[in-house]
Amino acid sequence: MTRRKLAAGNWKMNGLRTALAEIEALRDAFPDPGCDVLICPPATLLAQSALAAAGSSIRLGGQDCHVAASGAHTGDISAAMLSDSGATHVILGHSERRADHGESSALVARKTEAAWAAGLTAIICVGETEAERDAGRTLDIVTTQVIESVPDGAIALTTVVAYEPVWAIGTGRTPTNAEIEEVHTAIRGALASRFSTDVAEGIRILYGGSVKPGNAAEIFALRDVDGGLVGGASLKASDFAGIIRAAE
Ligand code: PGA
Repeated sequence: MTRRKLAAGNWKMNGLRTALAEIEALRDAFPDPGCDVLICPPATLLAQSALAAAGSSIRLGGQDCHVAASGAHTGDISAAMLSDSGATHVILGHSERRADHGESSALVARKTEAAWAAGLTAIICVGETEAERDAGRTLDIVTTQVIESVPDGAIALTTVVAYEPVWAIGTGRTPTNAEIEEVHTAIRGALASRFSTDVAEGIRILYGGSVKPGNAAEIFALRDVDGGLVGGASLKASDFAGIIRAAE
């Protein structure tokens, strides 16, 4: 099966209105990209990002959502609100949310169900810490996170998984190509045993963690790598353009 590659940018807590110019630059540079392109700006910029991307194939995503559709949850944002602001995707279970907000895989699964109910594609993040890798526990940790975070049923078919080693995020360090392939293959194997080979073959598995224009092409060429989830190098259109080209 050929899976179309996805170049996804995660702006995290970065971006004021001046950053909308980066989306306009990408829109103009890629009228018909040869891969899927997604930008996940802060929620405050979603609606204006949708205007900036209008008429292009650039898609927009949120960075988290609440499990509830609405209600008394001060400061939180629902999947329906993200969708209403122009998002088609939402990043869930990023390691920064797992660490800073104590999000468990069980909670991520519930958020994924909420995203699905609102028509959003969830990008479920998993990844080991450096201590877990040093202890030889990477495959166990990552496949367990995948199994516990991806909900049952049709929802699985619509999700994207992002493998992001915690120690590679924002550090300039990456696993070796062989290590990336080993984990991606293990993730697809875990999805196949949980669901079916057909379902597993249809799920895109992104790599994230210090992806740059200079290393994207070789990482995206690896077996079972279907694109990237990119933090720092997605903030400037000039950098992200190099990553999109590597995914095309
Ligand atoms: P990075 O972040 O590309 O800055 O390492 C990736 C991520 O956290 O999604």
